[in-house]
Amino acid sequence: LGPLLFESAPGVGRHEVIIECPEHLANPARLSDEQLRDVFLAYRDRLVALADEPGLRYAAVFKNVGAEAGASLGHCHSQIVATPIIPDNIQAELDGAKHHHDRHGRCIFCDIVASELADGARVVARSPGFVALVPAAARFAYELWVLPTHHASRYETLTPADAAELAGLMKRVVRALDAVLRDPAYNWFLHAAPLRSPDLPHYHWHFELMPRTSRPAGFEWGTGCFINAVPAETAAAELRAATM
Ligand SMILES: [Zn+2]
Ligand SMILES: [Zn+2]
Repeated sequence: LGPLLFESAPGVGRHEVIIECPEHLANPARLSDEQLRDVFLAYRDRLVALADEPGLRYAAVFKNVGAEAGASLGHCHSQIVATPIIPDNIQAELDGAKHHHDRHGRCIFCDIVASELADGARVVARSPGFVALVPAAARFAYELWVLPTHHASRYETLTPADAAELAGLMKRVVRALDAVLRDPAYNWFLHAAPLRSPDLPHYHWHFELMPRTSRPAGFEWGTGCFINAVPAETAAAELRAATM
């Protein structure tokens, strides 16, 4: 029974570090617009390159800012970990989005974007092609999502013009986080279609930003339920005011 119960596989994959600037900056809000644009383009270029390796199925792109968020060095950098599996969180999001599409014939993220832009209460900032919002059921206080307002499942379709626009919006967002939470530690990570996916009608790439406003403790670890003491609309209003 043992080998069946405790299935394992060799730890194959790729771990890459993207160094974002030659000067010693620790806060990505201080990168120039061009540097941040190039970071978003580098994510795209590495996803394209990693898709050439047939054993890899997903590439997780993420950034840790501050020791509390897991950063072990101060210099601005992002990381990519490519794995031979699709991680559970990504698969759950893909499955949930597919379920919504099967029932309603629409992308749930497009529906969220349309509904949030029409309502406005949880929108933090927007540009012609992107929106930053506090999700309705945010797990952490001041959690943010940044999404393209047009449908796109594969991050690989990002153009240089998109990257410049995304960089401008992301900078406003992280500056607002710095202002409201006084330079918090945070993570941002990309959720996008797995490597070598065709265009998916039901999935929509996005960044999630998680400021470390509280520590998950026994209740969160034990149940997977998160306690967030700041209503999404309150967090969005404070962050929105800080982007003005
Ligand atoms: Zn969509
Ligand atoms: Zn996501």
